[in-house]
Amino acid sequence: ALEGVAVSVKDNFCLEGHATTAGSRILENFVPTYDAHIVSRLKVAGAVCVGKTNLDEFGMGSTTDNPSFGQTLNPRGIALGLNNITAGGSSGGAAASVAADLCHAAIGTDTGGSIRQPASFCGVVGMKPTYGLCSRRGIMAYASSLDQAGVIAKTVEDTAAVMDVIIDHDPQDSTSIAWTKPALSESLEKADPARLKIGIPVEFRDKGASDDLKRVWSVLDETCSKFGVTLVPVSLPSIDYALPAYYIIAMSEASSNLARYDGARYGKRVGDDLPLIDMYQKTRAEGFGDEVKRRIMLGTFALSAGYYDQYYARAQRVRQIISDEFAAAFAEVDVMAWPTTPEPAFPFGAHSGDPISLYLQDVYTVPVNLAGLPAISVPFCDASNGLPMGLTIAAAQMEDDKVICAANMLAAGT
Ligand code: GLN
Repeated sequence: ALEGVAVSVKDNFCLEGHATTAGSRILENFVPTYDAHIVSRLKVAGAVCVGKTNLDEFGMGSTTDNPSFGQTLNPRGIALGLNNITAGGSSGGAAASVAADLCHAAIGTDTGGSIRQPASFCGVVGMKPTYGLCSRRGIMAYASSLDQAGVIAKTVEDTAAVMDVIIDHDPQDSTSIAWTKPALSESLEKADPARLKIGIPVEFRDKGASDDLKRVWSVLDETCSKFGVTLVPVSLPSIDYALPAYYIIAMSEASSNLARYDGARYGKRVGDDLPLIDMYQKTRAEGFGDEVKRRIMLGTFALSAGYYDQYYARAQRVRQIISDEFAAAFAEVDVMAWPTTPEPAFPFGAHSGDPISLYLQDVYTVPVNLAGLPAISVPFCDASNGLPMGLTIAAAQMEDDKVICAANMLAAGT
């Protein structure tokens, strides 16, 4: 299906015989002995893996401003003569590789927006499927209950073609599920505008005060009226709690997942001559970057005895409420649409010094990860500074076909 298609591979997917670092110095000398399940699917389909792409360390970030492996510049920024604009993250290298025509498609991972946000920043298409449709085997874990692989490409059609290859039930990933509907590519032309109902979360629409956000909403209005599609206001009353719940869950799971990097089993070891505990400490102190350390510490705190109920267990309850609110809203509409990011791509350093201000950038992307929903970002309009703004289209679990058909229609209408 993908004979000769050039695909880039985010550097948190194992690629047999090639260094796979997850963007971390702790894995700088790690060479996997097997391919991630998705990589082997691509190879069997005839795709050519042309290179590994840069990311925020272990996927933790939104800028691909990696202290060990460098910054990934935004090709759309470069085209405007701006050489300091982030490609987004954490799949910034993946999005840039497609936007710069280095390959036809890229595979990346999306824990809280890491496919959709860089796709939006670089003016390309990015999709994360329903949680469980793509195997996580051979992908370096960040937050296991949220991590999901997906595709970045130039068009919805190309995205669907690659998704059809990587969606596969894998008995070696216990959360893997089987897709039983027709291939996504068959949904491309299925949109029936007269019957399609697109939900607009009122909580998001009310939030969008900037001119750039207003432009996304007004282009959506125009496009839908052009096609005769009905826009239906829907409500997700608890959506404001998605971001804090996401960061508690993501950091908690990260602190647990990253415990495996201790110098004994994988990658880097520092202090071979020291007592065991000192070797662990030195390896982790030198191997992890500051953001990863911050998240391990916060996650360990949130999981500690006495705080588990107050933080992790409460965040999981919020997650359930948000999932239920999405399910109730999707009983009324086929898909929902909203802007992918609160602002277009920004210069490196614009949010540095204040991690919270960077976390707030994820307000529109993390809710679908909490609920395990499929979502896509398509390039939709240009912001006042000439950089692209993406539109997100999301659907209920296992309705990835609706995401593809609505996105294909809307993207064609702009
Ligand atoms: N920016 C988010 C975070 O830092 C999302 C990252 C991702 O999806 N891997 O957690």
